[in-house]
Amino acid sequence: MIERLCYEMIESIGEDPSREGLLKTPQRFSKAIKELTVGYSQNADSIVNGAIFEQADSEMIVVKDIEFYSLCEHHLLPFFGKASVAYIPNGKIIGLSKIPRIVNMYARRLQVQERLTEEICTEISRILNPKGVACSIEGFHMCMMMRGIQVQSSKMITNSLHGLFKSNPLTRQEFFSVIK
Ligand code: ZN
Repeated sequence: MIERLCYEMIESIGEDPSREGLLKTPQRFSKAIKELTVGYSQNADSIVNGAIFEQADSEMIVVKDIEFYSLCEHHLLPFFGKASVAYIPNGKIIGLSKIPRIVNMYARRLQVQERLTEEICTEISRILNPKGVACSIEGFHMCMMMRGIQVQSSKMITNSLHGLFKSNPLTRQEFFSVIK
């Protein structure tokens, strides 16, 4: 299905899908697009897979500069960048490697950066019920950089703040100073 659509797209932009360099492109594109959207077949509970541990004290935990690659749902063009996630435990912590995997589960779907930021926070809230959770994402959007207004340096920053990160200015300040 995806292969056929890709073949037709190549044809409709005026290219020749039968020339050598393009012969296997529909096949490669189909494989690539499935990989870039693999997040639809994943869920957080199987990613976490029980890696939740008791933790008495409750200092802020920050995972900084998590690389991600996503596709903008408006143009099906890539956007990519770094996500930083923090939470304040409420008796439970999560295996550190799980947070980048949750970020990438949501990144590998059709997205807008605002929703990606929010979904990461909401998922961590659901799993850990922490005292607070925050996510800040810096993204470069190919749909802005390669087309339209072509603002090549433009970087989009989105933040989502829940719990103490929202209600306590000092906590919020600490988060932003750690990730900057
Ligand atoms: Zn776009």
